[in-house]
Amino acid sequence: LKGSLPAGSRVSIALLHYPVYDRNSRVIATAVTNLDLHDIARLARTFGLFRYYVVTPVEEQRTLAERIRAHWQDGWGGSYNPDRRKALELLRVAPDLDAVLADLEENYHRSARIVVTGAKERPDAVSFEGLRQRIQDAEDHFLLLFGTGWGLTDEIFDLADFVLEPIKGAGEYNHLSVRAAAAIILDRILGQR
Ligand code: SAM
Repeated sequence: LKGSLPAGSRVSIALLHYPVYDRNSRVIATAVTNLDLHDIARLARTFGLFRYYVVTPVEEQRTLAERIRAHWQDGWGGSYNPDRRKALELLRVAPDLDAVLADLEENYHRSARIVVTGAKERPDAVSFEGLRQRIQDAEDHFLLLFGTGWGLTDEIFDLADFVLEPIKGAGEYNHLSVRAAAAIILDRILGQR
């Protein structure tokens, strides 16, 4: 219920490996990386998120991600490194965005609000502060979508309830790694002040 739980518990994050663009704006599926699994899982745990979904339609890639998760959660790795285990507990591997939305709906009995991130400036984007307020004030669950490759496709932006403003730095260049972008965004929308 509103106010009774930390805001982060009403937020999840999904890293999409499809549909994303390649350097020539063709739609592709990218490979899962070990770094993204671990680093974003730690972010999700730090900011008290509900879940971290890794999304890929490629079955072998899902198997790989599951194996890494299981190793650090159930296997030898879990007792060797409990911090990592606690982070990877939040990881779920899904074939597509619909499966993620269905999983959230099963838990929350209502549709999640989709928030799409990207480096490009877009009209009607919500500001970091605006999203922070909405998360504080609403009872909805918010699903933040992050891309791989050269970013999420227009089709994904069309599904958004909110497009989040891009992170900007000193000049025109703002192409961050997804891990850096996720860290900055989570701190802006959920970090303690
Ligand atoms: N190959 C890259 C890597 O190793 O991380 C992936 C690049 S991927 C396009 C980066 C994702 O991070 C974007 O889809 C977006 O979700 C987010 N991102 C990157 N730069 C951003 C920015 N300036 N503002 C907001 N989000 C950004």
